[in-house]
Amino acid sequence: MTLNRISAHVYVETAHLGSNNSIIVGDGIALVDTPHRPSDAIAWRKTVDRFGKTRYVVNTDHHPDHTIGNYWMGGEVVSHRGTRRRLLHDAPDHDYLARLFARIDPAAVALLDEYRVRVPDIVFTDQLDLHLGDIALELTFQPGHTANSLIAYLPEDGVVFTGDIVCEAGLPSFQDCRVADWFDAIDKVAGYDFEFLVPGHGEVAGREVLARYREWGREVVGEVAEAIRRGADSEQAAAEIRFPDNIHVDTAGQPGYPDDLIEFFQRRSIARVYTDLIERPELASR
Ligand SMILES: [Zn+2]
Repeated sequence: MTLNRISAHVYVETAHLGSNNSIIVGDGIALVDTPHRPSDAIAWRKTVDRFGKTRYVVNTDHHPDHTIGNYWMGGEVVSHRGTRRRLLHDAPDHDYLARLFARIDPAAVALLDEYRVRVPDIVFTDQLDLHLGDIALELTFQPGHTANSLIAYLPEDGVVFTGDIVCEAGLPSFQDCRVADWFDAIDKVAGYDFEFLVPGHGEVAGREVLARYREWGREVVGEVAEAIRRGADSEQAAAEIRFPDNIHVDTAGQPGYPDDLIEFFQRRSIARVYTDLIERPELASR
């Protein structure tokens, strides 16, 4: 565990496989995203309880690596309304999780009979503020990494939580995103007045991470645009183009996703970018 206090009210854990997990301490506490591995979630619950009573658990999107831990947390789960919908209808099933946990968290396979997807009970369309006494966490809907992503902002501390709209560790999957939204969302984050950016994955950063992240995205989009110019179809492009995955792979002694899943995410991501560029070729110059 490497829980870091980054500002007066914010603690961030960046060592969990699957997502960064944050604690905001005011009158009671709010959490941003929950651990992917059930073993981490159970330990995380003990950690967060030391800071006070959990009032809110914010999910920045519906992906399992940000939401599985909801089940083990207290408080009310809060998200964009689209996140609730995706968790209700598209959450990974028992067999998928059993196979995944067998690799990333073997002890958790036995917990699967007990485990239930915990969906948000509080949802919003455009904006919602969560007050913890003197401080407020401002949630704003922002399609980007997914169609139902959000940006959470704690103006008191100058901290912005971007979920996977911005990742410091590398590019996440593009499979649920539209290319235009992907870049628009980075622009939106740039418009915030912040000192600390808590990304979905990787280290807490400053404003400089935005340009680097945008450049990584441009490289992938540029490669797909080039494949289209060469006459490659979607399947060929998806078979050829790869971007480094630093998010699902083995890290710091923890096993990552099975290779075939990582490969599947890559292909789906490239196919997603391909479709968008066919519809709107001008996106290649974002
Ligand atoms: Zn993620």
